[in-house]
Amino acid sequence: MAESYNNLIDGEMISTAKTFAVVNPATEEEIAQVPSCGKDELDRAVAAARKAFLSWRKTPIEERRKAVQAIAATIKDNADELFRLLTLEQGKPHSQAQMEIYGAAGLAAAQSTLNLDDIINEDSDQRLSRTRHVPVGVVGGIVPWNFPVMMAVQKIVPAILSGCTIVLKPSPFTPLTTLRIAELIKGVVPAGVVNIITGPDELGPLITEHPDIDKITFTGSTATGKKIMEGASKDLKRMTLELGGNDASIVLPDADVEKVAEQLFWSSFSNAGQICIAAKRIYIHEDIYDDLSKAIAEYAKQVKVGDGSHQGTGVGPIQNKKQFDRVCELIQDAKDNGYQFLLGGDVDPSGTGYYVPITILDNPPEDARIVAEEQFGPVMPLMKFSSVDEVIERANNSDYGLAGAVWTKDTDQGVAIAEQLETGTVWINEFLHINPLATFGGHKQSGFGAEYGIEGLKEFTYSQVITVKRDAEV
Ligand code: NAD
Repeated sequence: MAESYNNLIDGEMISTAKTFAVVNPATEEEIAQVPSCGKDELDRAVAAARKAFLSWRKTPIEERRKAVQAIAATIKDNADELFRLLTLEQGKPHSQAQMEIYGAAGLAAAQSTLNLDDIINEDSDQRLSRTRHVPVGVVGGIVPWNFPVMMAVQKIVPAILSGCTIVLKPSPFTPLTTLRIAELIKGVVPAGVVNIITGPDELGPLITEHPDIDKITFTGSTATGKKIMEGASKDLKRMTLELGGNDASIVLPDADVEKVAEQLFWSSFSNAGQICIAAKRIYIHEDIYDDLSKAIAEYAKQVKVGDGSHQGTGVGPIQNKKQFDRVCELIQDAKDNGYQFLLGGDVDPSGTGYYVPITILDNPPEDARIVAEEQFGPVMPLMKFSSVDEVIERANNSDYGLAGAVWTKDTDQGVAIAEQLETGTVWINEFLHINPLATFGGHKQSGFGAEYGIEGLKEFTYSQVITVKRDAEV
């Protein structure tokens, strides 16, 4: 029988009469039932968050810091149980699930050190003027299914450190590990400060439009981001939107083919390609294109696709049927257009589990759907370029602006190229590395606002300037 999970509202784990199923993407078997919340449960969670806000905002930051540190320690202490559950619901291999769990604990520990110091604008005989960062209130957090734990933690931590309280909605596809964390942390934060409720996509707009929520922090697709912006416009909620990406990797001719092949592979295929900042278009200089594309394909042949809980699996299934169908559609489109495949491309329609074989395309045109759209799956197009100016123009020819990378021995040239890329993050000679204290955010339709670091923390506050006239006669 499937296990039942509960929601966290006002410090209590609660169940609902209506529930929905969560499926293991590796087997398509139901693994759990979780609460299906609607307006009533949301109202309860928001009321609890509002009540808790009244005292939490006045709680000294040192106390709030301790709560964040306790969350970090709780996740770390329970990492073994949590990463197994994460693989079960999300599909990612155990090693990558472990990285997510430890990464989330590390993020919480690192961000707990942040401060929201006042800024002195004027300190003269005439006046003292000071800017303080005031918590905005109750935050609605909405999270996707690709990194469910990391995304939940990266919303909860800055919200509560800043003095806000939060109502968080995991993706209906991957709520289990987050709900288990809710159960584990309910004793380390005061009741109502963190509330976690599950429901179908329809719960999302209820959060976005809730009159007693002050800010939305959302990670997910650009299409949903646009709907959220519309919903939140009714009462002009503050918002942070972390949306899709179609990140370009640029490999210059001086890169060592053998050394970069494996790194390029994982920059695209970690988490079965379901990473907003995965390399989704790889541009290789024509001088090394043949050798490097062959080396990537050779490396890929040794990587095992399978159930993430099985030893040796490198690439797990796609997380859900909807995304699986979308990736299959993009592969079919490439076939219909006669693009060349270096590897993969044949999905077994009768198989169990949402498996897509590692698929690598050989120099498809720039307007191919697999190049122009965010594929979010284990399918990578390799493309040839001949000049730096040309490749910068092609990399920037996208509605997205999340991240990118340059691979070269000449790091000065790498930086010079990076400075011309229209994205929030650019790596030289690495990929996917995120520093919890460095600003992370997108440009263009990859969203706006920031997460991580002091900029990310400030997003949960508004600025208040208090000026005292010192020489006034009153
Ligand atoms: P999604 O937009 O379908 O869903 C994300 C969340 O929004 C889920 O919790 C969902 O239930 C909820 N939701 C759905 N409809 C809603 C609505 N109308 N109003 C409010 N909430 C609604 O995204 P997904 O498929 O879960 O995730 C994949 C996408 O997320 C990809 O595009 C990926 O690039 C993006 N992503 C971005 C980042 C980033 O930091 N920029 C990180 C991870 C994923």
